[in-house]
Amino acid sequence: MHNFHPANFPNADYDALLPALRLATRLLNCEASMIYYHTIFHVKTTKQHYPAGSNVEYDEYEAVYPPKRPITVKEVRRVRKEFSNIADTMQFHRKELKSGTKGQCDESQAEVDLSVSWQGFRGWPSAINYNEKGYADLVELYHQTTDKDVSAPLAIHYVQFARMLCHELSHAAAFYRWGDYGGEVAWADNVLTESGFDWETIVWGGILDDEHTLLQWPGITTANSYLRKGSTLKCVGQPAAADIEWDLPLGWVLQMWRTSF
Ligand SMILES: [Zn+2]
Repeated sequence: MHNFHPANFPNADYDALLPALRLATRLLNCEASMIYYHTIFHVKTTKQHYPAGSNVEYDEYEAVYPPKRPITVKEVRRVRKEFSNIADTMQFHRKELKSGTKGQCDESQAEVDLSVSWQGFRGWPSAINYNEKGYADLVELYHQTTDKDVSAPLAIHYVQFARMLCHELSHAAAFYRWGDYGGEVAWADNVLTESGFDWETIVWGGILDDEHTLLQWPGITTANSYLRKGSTLKCVGQPAAADIEWDLPLGWVLQMWRTSF
């Protein structure tokens, strides 16, 4: 996919990353992901009142709702076009990030001259940084692998790297559509909005956690850990007090390489 072209990964061991980039491309192109991106790129926002009991009932926020019908071939084509627009304005950079942070999307950090911006640009370009530590571990494991088959630990690294790319790309897409306001638009009726988690939930049914666990989203545990780190989350109501987690067998992770989803 155009977004993951070698020129967009400066100073990276591209061969080592390639399986993760292929998996990320496959994930981005699955039907659920296409519905997500069609909604982000092209569906109009709907004004909603904050819920009763929020003390701001008379204020409004904006949300986007996916269409209640299958996505059309033409819509898929338009989504792919938007992806390639984004690809022309953003790169993925290695960076020392706080421990536990896999990636980060900086809006308006891309080195693009907006005065000569390309047709169709509406919001802000982004740059995505990925954690040097996670990258170094992956590359080391790749070069240690002599088998023809990818080992399970390396496959897990690839899944996590692909997940990080897709997660951060959904932030970039929201900034691309709405500029700085991209972090404010709520996804459907979710009380908490975080574009990356919204995308993961659309594709996997929850957040793919590090320990091969799928976490419910919107969920209070993830919300609290984000808020402790000082991250911003858009909240339009009260999330459920308890979370659900599902253990994922290793086979679930590995089958991403084999079956369609
Ligand atoms: Zn995120």
